[in-house]
Amino acid sequence: MSLVHVNLGPRSYDIEIGSGNLREAAKLCDAEQDDAHTVIISDTNVAEHYLDPVVEALEGLGCEVAALEVEPGEPSKSPDVASELWEELLDQGADRKTVVVALGGGVVGDLAGFVAATFGRGLRFVQIPTTLLAQVDSSVGGKVGVNLPGGKNMVGAFWQPRGVLIDVAVLATLPEREYRAGLAEVVKYGVIQDADFFAYLEANIELVNNRDAAVLTRIVERCCRLKADVVEQDEREETGLRSILNYGHTFCHAFEAATGYETLLHGEGVAIGMMCAARLAERLGRIDAAFVERQRKLLDAFGLPLDVPDVDRDELVELMYRDKKAERGKLRFVLPTRLGHVELVGGVANEQVLAAMGD
Ligand code: ADP
Ligand code: ZN
Repeated sequence: MSLVHVNLGPRSYDIEIGSGNLREAAKLCDAEQDDAHTVIISDTNVAEHYLDPVVEALEGLGCEVAALEVEPGEPSKSPDVASELWEELLDQGADRKTVVVALGGGVVGDLAGFVAATFGRGLRFVQIPTTLLAQVDSSVGGKVGVNLPGGKNMVGAFWQPRGVLIDVAVLATLPEREYRAGLAEVVKYGVIQDADFFAYLEANIELVNNRDAAVLTRIVERCCRLKADVVEQDEREETGLRSILNYGHTFCHAFEAATGYETLLHGEGVAIGMMCAARLAERLGRIDAAFVERQRKLLDAFGLPLDVPDVDRDELVELMYRDKKAERGKLRFVLPTRLGHVELVGGVANEQVLAAMGD
């Protein structure tokens, strides 16, 4: 098993990564202590596969356990569902000794984390991410929240877990498309922070596509370390450093908004967005065509879509201005200068952005 320590002073914690280690979650919840009480929040898909072993491990240490299930999918990340969960926590007698466990993908992690952050002025929280996206991205860094009809993640908090347990074996049941979408964020870390890691992915395409446990353990560990490095330096997104994680995301958010959040999975939008960002960087003379091609090849080998959705290009640019990365009316992009390094670039002209999307 590998450990990634996230150093955030009094909010520090470990991410434990392994294969077949799901039951280890019980220790993270202090399940052996007198009065131990955990409330697991999951979705019905994930619960069907993985709820029983987690409950058994907790009860085996003498812990009192309740399990709450929500419908799978983004609509569950809502104030209404959060409110139902608050009521259920009240019914369960949740108090300051209670540990809330998020067992699921990014939707469950963000929702359960938000409920933990807000109920009774904050309950302890443990993450067991079960999608690749959640294991390499959303479970690290403490961002929790729900959506409003008018905006994604509009109500939320920074609420660090007291521990994260990652079992890559659970990825075996993840639908193919969800798995591939998670790989987009994995490639992203290589481009923005670690050229050697990018090369490692290129050298292991087949094993990655076959969800090899040893390779996945290594990949998830590296991504968690890279994200933790950023979060440790900019926990609350104040210094701007954390924005490097948004490589490809200004484009992605516009695609997601324009297509109504239904056609594209987030990771698919990120893959297409990274291609646009790379082409933009090439147009601005920051990188060469070989870089763009190398990134394209790897994303393609992981079965990710690369073509900009068929929506009006001017509408996409309009949406980018509404994205939070636009400052004082100018678009800003996270762009590579070489493999493994990116910079925040402001004042990019609309014509360049349109051309990068292949107008
Ligand atoms: P994300 O992590 O990308 O935000 P979600 O939380 O929406 O994704 O999960 C994506 C879908 O995959 C949901 O339908 C969820 O129930 C399902 N899911 C999550 N983890 C697993 C798993 N390990 N095996 C099977 N299905 C899973
Ligand atoms: Zn993302």
